[in-house]
Amino acid sequence: FDDRDGWIWFDGDFVPWRDAKTHVLTHALHYGSSVFEGERMYGGEIFKLTPHSERLKRSANLLDFDLPYSVAEIDAACKETCAKMGLSDCYVRPVAFLGAEQVSVTARNSKPHLAIAAWEWPSYFDPEVKAKGIRLEWAKWRRPDPATAPSAAKAAGLYMICTMSKTAAENRGFADAMMLDWRGYVAEATGANVFFVQDGVLHTPPVDAILDGITRQTVIEIAREKGIEVIVRHIRPEELATFSECFLTGTAAEVTPVSEIGEYRFTPGPLSLDLMEAYGRRVRRQD
Ligand code: PMP
Repeated sequence: FDDRDGWIWFDGDFVPWRDAKTHVLTHALHYGSSVFEGERMYGGEIFKLTPHSERLKRSANLLDFDLPYSVAEIDAACKETCAKMGLSDCYVRPVAFLGAEQVSVTARNSKPHLAIAAWEWPSYFDPEVKAKGIRLEWAKWRRPDPATAPSAAKAAGLYMICTMSKTAAENRGFADAMMLDWRGYVAEATGANVFFVQDGVLHTPPVDAILDGITRQTVIEIAREKGIEVIVRHIRPEELATFSECFLTGTAAEVTPVSEIGEYRFTPGPLSLDLMEAYGRRVRRQD
């Protein structure tokens, strides 16, 4: 992935893609002091760009560091990166991390750095499989208590759990894994939030141990505009037997129907497919 043409915005300058490097003694590499975003540009516009830049700043603050850029400056840098790459439909990845100024558990002498890359990335899940619903297994790892880790941050450290779960799932032929939280409630997939359907009503977990997904918020907005009731509540795994449909939401995953989570089966139905289409129109401003 590092061996390609292009430009990466790095601490205020554009550097050639192959040269966008950081030292092996980078604090983030040793101690996980890194936060990031995932955004999508559709037809030349990054969907919900400012909420993403705000969440990046918030994630950094949750890890006790601050970015030396305003939200407006981060917004501008993301747009410039896409323009420099000549992309109008792409994925955008800002990453903020503490550098190699010092190797020590303390971050007192470390400095924050910000890099932004953009590349073409049409579909997170195989588009053919996506329409039929993707298969998930239960993750072995749980989302931690917010008193144990800053679960609201989009922090690299928390993705250790996601990476182990996703890789194990793929190794066994599944598309993804569904994580529970530390209490045993249904939490989220490794890069997406989850919704269930029961008698025309949507059910989704509250954001007390999961990422407050921007796609999740958008889908709740769209559903309520359509007059679909959305209930935000804790969901126990055994309740999955009572839901007819299930789908994931995320910037990369967009709205992806699910056919299977562990022992439970779902059929991608009218609500999932309707919201999948409506989300597609919303991000392209076609509604
Ligand atoms: N949960 C996790 C763990 C994620 O990585 C993502 C993707 N950022 C989401 C949920 C969905 O968030 P968003 O809709 O803001 O992309």
